[in-house]
Amino acid sequence: MKISSRLMKIKPSPTLAVTALANSLKAKGIDVIGFGSGEPDFDTPDFIKDAAIKAIRDGRTKYTPAGGIIELKQAVADKFARDNNLNYSTSEITINCGGKHSFYNLMQVLLDPGDEVIIPSPYWVSYPSMVLLAGGEPVIVETGEDTGFKLYPDQLRQAITPRTRAFLINSPSNPTGAAYSESELAALCEVLADTDISIISDDIYESITYDDFKFTNTANLSDDMKNRTFVLNGVSKTYSMTGWRIGYMAGDESVIKKVETLQSQSTSNPASISQWASVAALTGDQDCINEMTGAFTRRRKLIVNSLNSIPGINCLNPAGAFYAFPGISGVYDLKGWKAVSDKYEGEHNSSIFTSYLLEEARVAVVPGVAFGSDNHVRLSFATSDENIREGIKRIGEAVQKLQ
Ligand code: PLP
Repeated sequence: MKISSRLMKIKPSPTLAVTALANSLKAKGIDVIGFGSGEPDFDTPDFIKDAAIKAIRDGRTKYTPAGGIIELKQAVADKFARDNNLNYSTSEITINCGGKHSFYNLMQVLLDPGDEVIIPSPYWVSYPSMVLLAGGEPVIVETGEDTGFKLYPDQLRQAITPRTRAFLINSPSNPTGAAYSESELAALCEVLADTDISIISDDIYESITYDDFKFTNTANLSDDMKNRTFVLNGVSKTYSMTGWRIGYMAGDESVIKKVETLQSQSTSNPASISQWASVAALTGDQDCINEMTGAFTRRRKLIVNSLNSIPGINCLNPAGAFYAFPGISGVYDLKGWKAVSDKYEGEHNSSIFTSYLLEEARVAVVPGVAFGSDNHVRLSFATSDENIREGIKRIGEAVQKLQ
């Protein structure tokens, strides 16, 4: 069957694929430890579930406005004022079917064929695909450990062309955990000052940060920056609500209106029950976030220290999110690597290493090449301390065999 050329450019999400593979091996009784998952391993808090059950009982089970109920838009506006010192009216806010959908919609509304979006690499796997689906061109700019995986202003300057339509910032980042300080953001914004480039700020990991990191957004820097920033966020990671599919976005009213037009002709409203649950999440007791980040803080230390104790592996401390992104190029230099790469034929070293770990160590990680770096792998530490201890021990033993 003929498939559209747009879709021929897109591959399935590798993070979902790794999780599915680990689950299918587990279902066959194979003891696999999965580090693939991009979701908190905590249950959704009870007060949020109760709000959803109440919504069902109250009959809030019908279509809502395509861009979401006004109560949720107001809860989002109040959240921006409370947590981010940002004032938006409800007409500058839209509710989407997850943060992924917010980005997808925004790309569809902003981009014409050939328009470029600057994406710092390593990047979340879905950004380039969603730019391509909208007919745009992802412009990938590499960063590495030397800058803590952060883009520096000259790199941004050099990436700008007359076709640049938008610049993406994902802080804290999936997969690197890098997070930009206010002054780092200001230096990047200075480069944009004389342009009309939009900023897309994907803040989905905003609430998961470590070591007293102070989260800031480009919209906080000046009126000009606020006018051109689109803030994307959602309830998935903050409230352990990945399955409920609620994301939201704030920014220029004319663009927000068009996102809602698009949504009205595609998905219609995000699930009504999930919207009411999200009102409860955003307006209720926020202590549940601290409980989660407390556990992530402990696990971050455990996973980073254990990874760094393996010769050939080098892991920076993530400033936010719940991923470790260790460099593994030292493994490629080990004596036994040639035999491994011969056995697991493949184009990419990080995929070969991933296959080796799955077979040899029964550990599932995500190859860095999916995020734009073949010298890394990603491990989610949204899993138990026990899994982290056992999983990293197994990785260490598998690497030891290559010495
Ligand atoms: N942005 C980033 C960087 C992510 O890692 C994810 C999920 O993994 C999302 C956005 C979207 O999350 P959701 O669609 O579940 O709200």
